[in-house]
Amino acid sequence: MSAPVNDCLFCKIVAGEIPGQIVHTTERSIAFRDINPQAPTHVLVVPREHHENVGELGAADPAGLADLVAAAGEVARLEGLAGYRLIFNTGRAGGQTVFHAHGHVLGGKNLDEHLA
Ligand code: 5GP
Ligand code: ZN
Repeated sequence: MSAPVNDCLFCKIVAGEIPGQIVHTTERSIAFRDINPQAPTHVLVVPREHHENVGELGAADPAGLADLVAAAGEVARLEGLAGYRLIFNTGRAGGQTVFHAHGHVLGGKNLDEHLA
């Protein structure tokens, strides 16, 4: 078990201390809209427990990681996405700015153009 971490933005959203536009919840994960969307659908899926990044989550709580990935799929279904991208920025050099594990569910426009 990981206790909430003081001054962690996503722990505060999980605790309801900071509002989030929540779109889906499970026992272990919550999903809410990104405040600065980069696609028509941009939802963050986070474990309720604090883990610094997705690798640490997977190592410490494999079932929690599985729940997060399944929750991301459910978000895509609820949002009516034909397909989506699930991104985990990891570490400052990897573009991570909030150090509570989270996946970005991005969809609603043609992402395949960028994969060539
Ligand atoms: P990262 O850069 O760590 O992968 O992603 C952090 C994400 O959190 C960014 O896309 C950013 O827009 C989002 N974000 C930052 N502050 C808030 C907030 O207070 N509420 C919500 N919903 N998203 C936030
Ligand atoms: Zn946290």
